[in-house]
This record gives sequence, C-alpha cells and structure tokens, in this order.
Amino acid sequence: MQEFLSAILAGASGEEIAAIPIPESYRASFVKRDETDMFEGMESEDKDPRKSLHVGEVPTPELAPDEAYIAVMASAINFNTVWTSIFEPLPTFGFLDRLGREGVWGARHALDYHVVGSDASAVVLQVGSAVRNWGPGDKVTVHCNYVDDQSPTAHDDSILADNQRIWGFETNFGGLADLAVVKANQLMPKPAHLSWEEAAVNALCNSTSYRMLVSHNGAPITQGDKVLVWGASGGLGAYAVQYCLNGGATPVGVVSSQSKVDLLHELGVEAVIDRKAANYRFWKDEHTQDESEWRRLGKDIRGLVGDDVDIVFEHPGRQTMGASVFAAKRGGTIVTCAATSGYMIEYDNRHLWMKLKTIKGSHFANYREAWDANQLVCEGKILPPLSAVHTLDNVGDAAYQVHRNLHEGKIGVLCLAPEEGLGIDDHELRQRVGEDRITLFRRHGA
Ligand code: NAP
Repeated sequence: MQEFLSAILAGASGEEIAAIPIPESYRASFVKRDETDMFEGMESEDKDPRKSLHVGEVPTPELAPDEAYIAVMASAINFNTVWTSIFEPLPTFGFLDRLGREGVWGARHALDYHVVGSDASAVVLQVGSAVRNWGPGDKVTVHCNYVDDQSPTAHDDSILADNQRIWGFETNFGGLADLAVVKANQLMPKPAHLSWEEAAVNALCNSTSYRMLVSHNGAPITQGDKVLVWGASGGLGAYAVQYCLNGGATPVGVVSSQSKVDLLHELGVEAVIDRKAANYRFWKDEHTQDESEWRRLGKDIRGLVGDDVDIVFEHPGRQTMGASVFAAKRGGTIVTCAATSGYMIEYDNRHLWMKLKTIKGSHFANYREAWDANQLVCEGKILPPLSAVHTLDNVGDAAYQVHRNLHEGKIGVLCLAPEEGLGIDDHELRQRVGEDRITLFRRHGA
C-alpha cells in the first residue's frame, strides 16, 4: 500500500494508479470469531474494545464486477464498531455467515475475522468490469448502505431491501483499514475543501440524520419547528442540530456537560439542556418510570423555546423513550434510529394515542439520501464535527472513547494518510466556509 500512498501524495494520474498492482494483503482492524465470548458475564460498559479490536495484515479478497478497491486515507469510529467489538447485542459473525450463503461473492465475507468500519474517505484504485461511473484516482467518500440491486425490494427505497446491509458491520472488508472493498453504488465525491479525516467522518451519521430530519422518508422538519435532539453534540446529534438550523427549525439540544453546552452555543444552538446538571431521573428504578420527571423536562423545554417540540430526535432508547414520547407536542413525531441504552422500550401509550403522536423508525439512508447529504457537506452547508484523530494502530482506544461516551462529535482515524491536514484541494471554498467553523469540534476537542 506504500506504493499507492506515495503515488497519491505525489498527485499521480488515474492511469498511474491503475498500473500499480493490488497487494496480496493489507493492514486492517478486525475482531476474531474465536474471541466472541471473551467478555462473557461482564457488564456492557466493562467490555473493552481495546482488547477485542486487533490490527494486522489480512488477505486481499477478490473483486466482484460491481465493486471497487479503494485506498482508505481515513475512516471514523461509529457506534456499530463499538457494538461489533463488544459482541453486543450479537456477534457480527452471524451477519457474515448469512451473507456467505448468498452465492459466490457473498461467500468471501464469511471469514473467521471481521474487518470493521463503516466510513471512509479514499482514492479508488481499481474497479470491477461492471463499474461505469468511477475509476482509478477518483477521490471519494463511502456510504455504508450495502444493497443487492437484483432484489426487487431494493428498487423503491433501497434501505427497505429485504437483504439490505451495513458495510463494515453486516459485511466484511470495512473501512478501518488501509484498503477496502466497496460496491460502486456506495461511492460519493469527496468534499474538496476538507482534509481526508474531516471528509471521512460524515457519511454514516450525516446520512442517518438527513433521512430522519430532512427526507420525506423520515420526519422532515418545517420552518419554525422545534426539535428535541438527544446527544446533540454526539455523532448523530451534531448533524441533526445543523439540519435544524439550516432548515429554519429551532433545535433544543440535550447534552451531559457544560463543555458540550458551550460547544453547541458556538455552533449556533441557543437552547441547550445539560441533562447531568438537570439530573433528570426518568427511571425511579429498573422497572418504574417517573412521569413527574418527564414533566420537568417538558417544562425546561418550554422555558427555553416557549412551546413543546414538534419532533424528537431519538436514539438513546430505553433511558429516554418514555420522556421523548411525553415531550413531543400533540400531533408530534418521535423519530428513532437506535437504542444505545437498551432496546426494550417502555412509554405511556396514553400520551401517544390521546395526543395523536407518531413514532417513526428510521435506519441509515438510501443512496439518494446519502448522496444529497454528502452534497451538503461538499457545499460547506454541513460542517464535519471531527473532534479527535487517532491512528489505525490505535483504533481500540478510539472505539473505547466512543463506548465510554468520552468524546464529542466524531472521532476520525488516519489509515493510509500519514498525518492530519492532507487532501484539501479547494482552499478557496475552505476559506469561504471558514476555517474556524470547519475546525470547531477539533479545536474544542484538542
Ligand atoms: P455518539 O457519538 O456516542 O452520540 C450519542 C450521544 O447520545 C452521546 O454523545 C450522549 O450525549 C447521548 N447519550 C448516550 N446515552 C444517553 C442516555 N442514556 N440518555 C441520554 N443521552 C444519551 O453515538 P452516535 O453515533 O450519535 O450514535 C447513537 C446511537 O445511534 C448508537 O446506538 C448507534 O449505534 C445508533 N446509530 C444508528 C444508526 C442507524 O442507521 N440506525 C446510524 C448511526 C447511529 P450526552 O452524554 O452529551 O447527553
């Protein structure tokens, strides 16, 4: 891969890159099938990704006709890599085995190691014979919706496809590596004004938030809406609040420290609740919720923005869902894509039906939504919330930070890129968007 790196850094042409042979192995981060019970009996929070995520050489798989080899310059930690590395709620090898039963190309994925990672900024090295729109030398970002386009179910909204998968989570050969294998229909242009690591962190969380709050498939915001955003300085939330601000809505961000409150204020979010300082106790004990605490949250929201919220952007799950259903206004929508604190949910259904509220499920994004969300990054309208950068050799530590909620925004991972700050092609756009705005989370996290 060093030959590719030297060529990329020297600005080699597509033909020159195409002439370099693909190596037989590459450096990747992975979990191992024979270690899936290593944390048995431990509490979730004690399971340590630094123990289960390995970095080493793995063989390069063969390329299918609709795929591309990419040199991953940078990647990012997503929560799905945390789930894979703590083997919760299930070891991801079951996903790989299922894909392995889908024919000859699928069989490549069912291995005893799982190369993780669902984000990348990269350079295309080679493409399969069926690839039309991309070629060697193209600078790209990668979205993680992995779709079998021979299934009729994939041809309305591809995230509804019955064998839809998330690349690097439900497939092998993910992005936390020097090389990755992706389908051509995962590729999108790299934002030219961003560095490799700034460009790498967006696709997964940005596209997910876009579908939840902008696309007609989610709970699209209307000008004037008030939107409660849990984890508003986290991976998803940092994009959600930007979509609210861009769309004329008023975000009410919830975070867990004064430092995160300050960060959101600097981003332009005026209404912010520090949930630690407020000390909400939505659950009296493991089995009982406290409606008076939901009411206290509602009062705090009205104190900040004068009304209940039209939309709740939900992902913490069990800890917050009861409060979220309560806090949405009459006729409002709770849009949810996750359940970090537990997926067996309880809420008071009377508040849902009597006040005609809707709970809307959402999962990642289709190619069109991911493309449109990426375009907004390319135009400088959505900023990358990159707060910290690790090297690939240090990937376990990076995942640990996210697992223990010690981070803000997104953590980037340098794969082939030897240092931060490389890969910026459009300096004029960068200047127009504003260096300070682009690096807000990074400066804050430094
Ligand atoms: P993240 O970067 O860790 O941010 C999540 C934020 O949620 C944290 O910063 C934290 O903020 C807040 N939070 C955590 N536990 C909470 C609790 N018990 N109560 C209230 N707030 C809590 O993670 P992320 O990337 O945003 O992902 C969040 C979840 O969404 C994960 O479970 C992930 O797997 C899932 N996800 C799903 C999809 C999809 O397509 N379905 C896509 C992306 C992510 P504060 O501590 O500051 O409040």
